[in-house]
Amino acid sequence: MRLGLKIDVDTLGGFREGVPALLEVLGRRGVPASFYVSLGPDNSGRAIFRVFRQEGFLEKMLRTRAPSVYGLRTMFYGTLLPAPLIGPAAPGILPGVVAAGHEVGLHGFDHVRWHDRLVKMGFGEVAREIDAAQESFRAALGRPAAGFAAPGWQSTAVSRAVLAARRFRYASDTRGEGPYWPRFGAEQSSLLELPTTLPTLDELLGLQGCRAADFFRLVLNRLNPKKPQVLTIHAELEGGPFLADFARFLDMAGDRGATFFRLGDWAEELLQAPGALPVCNVAMGRLPGRAGRVACQVTA
Ligand SMILES: [Zn+2]
Repeated sequence: MRLGLKIDVDTLGGFREGVPALLEVLGRRGVPASFYVSLGPDNSGRAIFRVFRQEGFLEKMLRTRAPSVYGLRTMFYGTLLPAPLIGPAAPGILPGVVAAGHEVGLHGFDHVRWHDRLVKMGFGEVAREIDAAQESFRAALGRPAAGFAAPGWQSTAVSRAVLAARRFRYASDTRGEGPYWPRFGAEQSSLLELPTTLPTLDELLGLQGCRAADFFRLVLNRLNPKKPQVLTIHAELEGGPFLADFARFLDMAGDRGATFFRLGDWAEELLQAPGALPVCNVAMGRLPGRAGRVACQVTA
């Protein structure tokens, strides 16, 4: 059983505190992972305005106890408090992540902006987000990122075209079943897609009384010897209040014989035989426990 851990870092708090906590837990077990970091302004507070626009958002915030998980400060960044930049913290943190044997990729520049505005953004606007993120990445690691994970699983023909033009090796922008070449209407992306295949903790937590331990038991039961899986975790959650549950999950997965891979390594494996992968449509769809719509792989 093979499992790819995709770790999204959305906020300055997650970057400064969640990432080192996760490095400790992963390092002690010799588990490699892929980190995707937002490097622009932490505008988390602006996400609060989704309450007025997005069906299911308030319900999700209350169910997952978001104010206590993220902290009041983070909840006001970009509104009552100025949005701090995450990038300046990167030179002090990212080299240590790489030295520990993990992969680092990009999770956009301004997470909230990408999440809320991507569908309306043209090529130039998306390119500015990605170029700003790459500049910050390069300043920290001396090279550009090869992997990209879209904030909030928001992906369009335009964003894929920018990523392809900027020569990323792969992206993990969607939810789905397995690796594929994505098609947006008539447009087929030339960029390999490695979708998240499992639900996330914030989606299921509190849903019908689901606790973190129940969530991780569900993930263990979904591990499949025939099909590698990709699990998205968050530095703010599994690297924060749910760190102990996550550590227990790693131990149980190890006991069951699961092995862990970095998404970038898997991408290089798959790119050896590009013709073996299917072409699939991408459609915006709803997932249980997630507010708003996300980009989904459509399988026949
Ligand atoms: Zn995110």
